[in-house]
Amino acid sequence: MTTPLLGQMMDVPLIVSSLLAHAARHAGSTEIVSRRIEGDLHRYTYRDCEQRAKQLAQALIALGVAPGERVATLAWNGYRHLEAYYGITGFGAVCHTINPSLFPDQIAYIVNHADDAYVLFDTTFAPLVDALAPQCPKVRGWIALADEAHLPAMQTPVLSYETLMAAQDGNFAWPYLDERQASYLCYTSGTTGNPKGALYSHRSTVLHAFGASLPDAMSLSARDAVLPVVPMFHVNAWGIPHAAPLTGAKLVLPGKDLDGKSLYELMEGERVTYSAGVPTVWLGLLNYMREAGVQFSSLNRTVIGGSACPPAMLRTFEDDYGVQVIHAWGMTEMSPLGTLSKLTWEQSRRPLAEQRKSLEKQGRAIYGVDMKIVGEEGRELPWDGVAFGDLHVRGPWVIDRYFRKDDSPLADGWFPTGDVATIDRDGFLHITDRSKDVIKSGGEWISSIDIENVAIAHPAVAEAACIACAHPKWTERPLLVVVRRAGASVTREELLAFYEGKVAKWWIPDDVAFVDELPHTATGKLQKLKLRDIFRDHVLPSALEDEKNCSLARGNPV
Ligand code: ADP
Repeated sequence: MTTPLLGQMMDVPLIVSSLLAHAARHAGSTEIVSRRIEGDLHRYTYRDCEQRAKQLAQALIALGVAPGERVATLAWNGYRHLEAYYGITGFGAVCHTINPSLFPDQIAYIVNHADDAYVLFDTTFAPLVDALAPQCPKVRGWIALADEAHLPAMQTPVLSYETLMAAQDGNFAWPYLDERQASYLCYTSGTTGNPKGALYSHRSTVLHAFGASLPDAMSLSARDAVLPVVPMFHVNAWGIPHAAPLTGAKLVLPGKDLDGKSLYELMEGERVTYSAGVPTVWLGLLNYMREAGVQFSSLNRTVIGGSACPPAMLRTFEDDYGVQVIHAWGMTEMSPLGTLSKLTWEQSRRPLAEQRKSLEKQGRAIYGVDMKIVGEEGRELPWDGVAFGDLHVRGPWVIDRYFRKDDSPLADGWFPTGDVATIDRDGFLHITDRSKDVIKSGGEWISSIDIENVAIAHPAVAEAACIACAHPKWTERPLLVVVRRAGASVTREELLAFYEGKVAKWWIPDDVAFVDELPHTATGKLQKLKLRDIFRDHVLPSALEDEKNCSLARGNPV
C-alpha cells in the first residue's frame, strides 16, 4: 500500500476565536452597537470587543473554569453577550446559551443536565436566577452582566461582570485548540419531552459561519450593518455573531425591546441594511410601520425563518417596503442553517409569478448540507415538487448525537429532521409540516402550513393555525384557528369561501374557530401541541353529520 501524498499547507485549526481575531485585525474600527439593558446605546469596535473577550477569558480562568467546562448565558443580544460567546469558547470552555423564555423548571433541568460551572445573566433575569439558584446547587457562581452600581437586589449571591473584567488586562493569546473540541451547547425547545442538547464543535461553528455568509446563503458583507432580531440565546442567532466578524459587517444588537417601534427606530438610526428573525417579530414591525405610515431608508434584505414565512408577509416586504426576503429553513440540530431561498440564474429568467412561487419555498441547500426526502421504509422519494416525505439531512454542521445521550438519532448516517417536505426539480425545499403536525385525512396528507398561509393572506386575519381534529370517517380533518386583525371582521363562511380555487377542495378546513390569541413557544413558533389540547373536544360540524355522507361533498381522494 502506498502512503497517501499529503498536502503541504498550514494546519491551522478552524476555531471560533479566529473569527473575532480576524475582525479585530481586518475590520478593527467597524462598530458594534448595542441597546443596553441600562437603556442607552453602547458603541465600540471589533478591536474593543476582542480586547474585552480576552479579559473575560482571563477572568474565567482565574475563577477556575477549565477547558471543556460549560459556562452558561441568560442574556439578550448585546455586546457583553458577544464577549461571552468569544471569551468562553476562546480558551476551550463551552458557551451554553440558555433560552430565558423556557419554563423555569425546564431551565433548571438544562442547567443541571449541562452541568454549568457559571451562569452569566442580564439583570432583567435576576428574579429568574433567584428561582433557579436553589434548584441548581452545582453552579459555582452567578455573574450579573453589569457593573457594581447596576447590581440588582437579589437573594442569590452574585458577582459583577464588570468587576471581574476590571481585574484583567486582556494580555492574552487565544490558544490553538483542537478544532473538534466543543464550542457551544444549544438545547432544543423541547416542545415534546425534555430539551435535548446539541453540542457544536469549533470546526462546525466556523464552517457554518463560512456557509452562512455565502452570496446564496445569508450574503453578508463588510458593506452591511446587520441587526439580528433572532436571539443570541436561540441557536447562536442563526450564526450571525460569527458570520458578522467573518465578513466584517457592522453589528447592531437590539437588547430586550423587540417591539415594532423600537426595532424600526434602531434600524433607521443605525442605517441597518440587513436583519433576521422569525415571522412573529416581523408581524409586529410591519404592523407598526403600517400604522405609523413609515418606510425603511436603509434596510434592503431580511432573513425570515424559524417557522414558515407566510407568502403574504413576503409580498408586503417586497412590494410595500422594497425589502428582499430570504426565506430560510434550519434547526438547532443543524447549527441551524440548511436551506435558503435564493434563485438560480435559470430560475431568475422565468416569469415573475413563477419566481415568486419558488421564493415562497424554503430554498436550496447550501454547501455543507445534503438532504433527501424519504417515504415508507426509508425509500428515497423523487424531487418532483409533489412527493411528500420525511426530510433527512447530513453534513459537517449537523449533529451526530445529542449531548449526554448514548443512542444515535441517525438513520443510515442521516439525521431525520422531523419535518415533512417536498423538493422540486430546482432542488427547492418546501416544508409542509412537522411530522407530528401533519393532518392525515383519509390516509392522505394535508399540509397545515399551506392552509395557514392562505388564511394569513386574508386582510382580516392577523394569525392562523391549522390543526387536525378527530373525524369519524376521515380520521382527521383540518380545523382552522384564527386571530382576527384588530377592528376587522370576517365570518367562518367568508374564510372558507376564501379557500376556493387556492387549494385542493379536500384540503379546505372543515371548520373555523376564532380566538383572541394563539399559544406560542419560547421561540415564537405556534404551539400546536397546546392548541390541539385546547381543541381536543372540538366537534367538527362535518363529524356531526351522518357518517354515510359525512358532508364532505368536497370529497377526499380515496
Ligand atoms: P426547536 O428548538 O423548537 O426545535 P428550532 O429552531 O430548532 O427550534 O426549530 C426547528 C424547526 O422549526 C424545524 O425543524 C422546522 O419544523 C421549523 N422551521 C424552521 N424554519 C422553518 C421555515 N422556514 N419554514 C417552516 N418551518 C421551519
